[in-house]
Amino acid sequence: MIVVMEQNAPDDRIDTIANRITELGLKAHVIRGTERTVIAAVGDERKIKVESFESYPGVSEVLPILAPYKMASRELRQDPTQVRALGFRAGRGVVGVMGGPCSVENEEQIVACARAVKASGGTALRGGAFKPRTSPYSFQGMKEDGLKLLDLARQETGLAVVTEVMSTEDVPLVAKYADVLQIGARNMQNYRLLEAVGRSGRAVLLKRGPSATIEEWLLAAEYILNEGNPDVMLCERGIRTFENHTRFTLPLASVPYLHRKTHLPVIVDPSHGTGHSYLVTDMAAASVAAGADGLIVEMHPNPEKAMSDGYQSLDFAQFDEMMKRCRTIAMALGKELG
Ligand code: PEP
Ligand code: MN
Repeated sequence: MIVVMEQNAPDDRIDTIANRITELGLKAHVIRGTERTVIAAVGDERKIKVESFESYPGVSEVLPILAPYKMASRELRQDPTQVRALGFRAGRGVVGVMGGPCSVENEEQIVACARAVKASGGTALRGGAFKPRTSPYSFQGMKEDGLKLLDLARQETGLAVVTEVMSTEDVPLVAKYADVLQIGARNMQNYRLLEAVGRSGRAVLLKRGPSATIEEWLLAAEYILNEGNPDVMLCERGIRTFENHTRFTLPLASVPYLHRKTHLPVIVDPSHGTGHSYLVTDMAAASVAAGADGLIVEMHPNPEKAMSDGYQSLDFAQFDEMMKRCRTIAMALGKELG
């Protein structure tokens, strides 16, 4: 349920309603928009009578939230959310770019990537320290040593650090070093992990599970939002289909579709979405054209030598070229890219 307040409703009236919602055993989220303040009552709605709220002073109207995801829904918040972390921004006219290797490998590699991302105008450095690998015999990441190298690269460049956290017990450690916590595709429905990142105080990049529907994905985002963390970005990284010319199938219609359903920023990962470096730049450009609020792109000083996902990683010159193409498109749409 959403309680829409009259314009300029005073704080004490807003508080009265929020307190009443809490007394009834639901969570009250006060959302101050540019036009009006709304109060969302989230939880078991059988406990509340809509009519009883209509008569409170200062209330303009009371509306149900029809979508099963409440906090993530556009019904709740019409203004798009902009997520920020250090100099990185995504949403509301800004296309935020995160670039970097699949895995952190050593100091030279990660610092070189960070410098190249920065030189091309990106604002965040990606790099996995805890890697979810299909085979237990593949490189599993540098773990805390990798996080320390990301921290060093941040100190060198000022870029925000985006890195994956794979398990609930690692959240405090990864949150100590990261500006944005990445929830990998394989963990999209690990609900205890979603709750933990919801309490971490860090922005979250929630990747789509390769077989998740958009509704399941938005309900996963809801777990994070419901813990009080508003800084959630959705990342389309491709889904599994019968098609095998690409590693996954990258459904870009999800970008404008999500913009109808949610106020959260939508990021696209054309690296995992295609699995081929020669397709990445075109699909990055297409993502921006489709309205994406950000990109996460794998790049490496020497892709052939990468310890993971080299075949889908751009080299520095290709990354720079991609940035130029995407910036031209962003500017044509009246947006900033960086
Ligand atoms: C990654 O970003 O390197 C990664 C493992 O992504 P995903 O979870 O989308 O497969
Ligand atoms: Mn990867």
